[in-house]
Amino acid sequence: MSSALLGPVEVRELAERLDVSPTKKLGQNFVIDPNTVRKIVRLAGVESGNLVIEIGPGLGSLTLGITEVGADVTAIEIDSRLAAELPNTIRAMQPEAADRFRVIHTDALDLSAEHLATLPGQPTALVANLPYNVSVPILMHLLELIPELNRGLVMVQAEVGYRIAAGPGSKEYGSPSAKAAWYGEWGIAGTVSRRVFWPVPGVDSVLVSYVKRDAPIGSETERVRTFELVNAAFAQRRKMIRQALQSVLGADRTVEIIEAAGIAPTARAEQLHIEDFLAIARSGR
Ligand code: SAM
Repeated sequence: MSSALLGPVEVRELAERLDVSPTKKLGQNFVIDPNTVRKIVRLAGVESGNLVIEIGPGLGSLTLGITEVGADVTAIEIDSRLAAELPNTIRAMQPEAADRFRVIHTDALDLSAEHLATLPGQPTALVANLPYNVSVPILMHLLELIPELNRGLVMVQAEVGYRIAAGPGSKEYGSPSAKAAWYGEWGIAGTVSRRVFWPVPGVDSVLVSYVKRDAPIGSETERVRTFELVNAAFAQRRKMIRQALQSVLGADRTVEIIEAAGIAPTARAEQLHIEDFLAIARSGR
């Protein structure tokens, strides 16, 4: 095994030196297994020269796997001690990668166009072991903020991963699935043992893959309107959409708008594809 990645001993030593005790609040479970890191990078299809964004690099376990293949990495980390140490870790373990790596110390949910404007180019791939309590909001924020992102591979809590990748008609299908489908295709790319983390988490993890659509299915204005409908429909997922969508479409016009979109007003949210929500948004204009 190459020494360019962090193993269990290095992770513990680094955490001790930085006086970091992983916190649940920030979802800090660090990967201690280089094989898992290499598997993630392989499944992500990251190659030399790719511009990658990583959320929550932590001690650098996954970061080093991405830089190892020659990619350029911009890492977004909320924890100041971890953010400050990362450049040192990269320099010490992979000096040749130091000028292909930068860290932005911020909450990923506050990442902005101003931050992105400072980068050498816009990231086209997302690779991350996401903090589990905020993984869906972070994904949604990045998809909206960085249209250049054309693929991704993220590790998330299993339950959340199955929800993101779910299609209509399944019990996991919900607003995250419908919204994620706006941007592209999602799938479960693998499962990950709890033993590859320190500390060992109380939940299972999966790898979720993303490939952007060839062409957007609608405009930004239509997306905003469509997501309003998705929110309203899934807020009352047991109700028929003729009832659940009234708050957005207006009590008197809801049935007419849904019918004009070619959809049954008696349908429930879980039966509708994102294209159906978009059709209703368009018909309601
Ligand atoms: N990538 C590392 C690994 O695989 O070992 C660490 C992954 S750990 C599950 C999640 C990381 O995300 C932690 O480093 C944590 O400090 C960071 N984090 C938590 N919330 C964040 C947020 N809102 N924005 C950016 N980073 C965050």
